[in-house]
Amino acid sequence: MRKKIVAGNWKMNGTQEEGQKLTSEIVNMVKDERISDVTVVLNPPFVHASNVKKLIGGVDNIFLGGQNCSDKASGAYTGETSASILASFGATYVIIGHSERREYFAESNEQLTEKVKLALENGLTPIFCCGEPLEIREAGTHEAYVKDQLTESLFGLSEEDFAKIVIAYEPIWAIGTGKTASSDQAQEMHAAIRAHLASKYGEKIAEGTSILYGGSCKPDNAPEIFSKPDVDGGLIGGASLKSRDFVDIIKSF
Ligand code: 13P
Repeated sequence: MRKKIVAGNWKMNGTQEEGQKLTSEIVNMVKDERISDVTVVLNPPFVHASNVKKLIGGVDNIFLGGQNCSDKASGAYTGETSASILASFGATYVIIGHSERREYFAESNEQLTEKVKLALENGLTPIFCCGEPLEIREAGTHEAYVKDQLTESLFGLSEEDFAKIVIAYEPIWAIGTGKTASSDQAQEMHAAIRAHLASKYGEKIAEGTSILYGGSCKPDNAPEIFSKPDVDGGLIGGASLKSRDFVDIIKSF
């Protein structure tokens, strides 16, 4: 059975106080509502790491993640945070290759390969993002585009390493736009991704890989999207900043 995962990507949001309030509320709801069959990952801005780690302590299914990590192990890279630093703060997941990182910070597929390697070396589970822009969707070449992203960044990994990866499919045209992919569009792409993984790593590893959907996922559309056979959860932006909405999404399976 694949892991069901709901990860919140806070992006660049939340003061210290807001981050603590949000985390405490999520922790309390997950405990009070006895949610234990979903892996929940909170990905706050780096400086929240200690606070969030402390607040989620003692809840077995809530984990700390980073939104990014450096493609260098350590050294004179002002402003960067390495996978090993993240791990030392108790993080166990890290988002890699989010479209905002690719677009605004010009992250290349080759750099993402390095990030994935460093994350794995430091015991972090990469949540590797892929997804096409609107013009590619409109041209009808979205499957090939996403397969290329996966091939170029991940297909150099050994089977053992690849088996530790989580994939997040986030069509760029659906991020923060309120325009979600339909559940059929999500299923179609997730199935194509899984088939692509199987072509390289075999059925067993492909069947065991959790593939999350991201892009305007909300409590009202999550049940339908999560009901699809190849959708194993979500990577949630805006709605992860509201505790009730986020927990309702977690309960959407
Ligand atoms: P929204 O849920 O705000 O559309 O963001 C999705 C996303 O980018 C999560 O990483």
